[in-house]
Amino acid sequence: MKKIFTCIICPNGCEIEVELDNDTIAKIEGATCKKGKEYVNQEITNPRRNIATSVKVLNGDLDIVSVRLNKSIPKSMIFDVMKEIKALEVNAPVKIGDTIKSNILNLDVDVIATKNIDLI
Ligand code: SF4
Repeated sequence: MKKIFTCIICPNGCEIEVELDNDTIAKIEGATCKKGKEYVNQEITNPRRNIATSVKVLNGDLDIVSVRLNKSIPKSMIFDVMKEIKALEVNAPVKIGDTIKSNILNLDVDVIATKNIDLI
């Protein structure tokens, strides 16, 4: 079976055409570096994604703080993790790099602040 992937590892966004034989790569074309093949392998066996979103802030000069995960999570867990993050609240002040929530849903992944928020 032929499948086309767009590599998201770097801004080049290579379009990679793969011939699959029982979920193993029989032929691969279009990846301009070895990371492309690694990406496709991961997409076939265990697709993962990072999340960038925001969390509600109490008593801050802004009402929300931007956050991201410190590691990627299984793609199948994105909805559950987003739901968990949406329910979070944090008290100001917040510093870039602060852990807003550690080990979210026991995935060994932390939610990290990516913006400074001062007290009102
Ligand atoms: S295959 Fe390599 S060059 Fe192409 S998008 Fe992926 S990481 Fe970038």
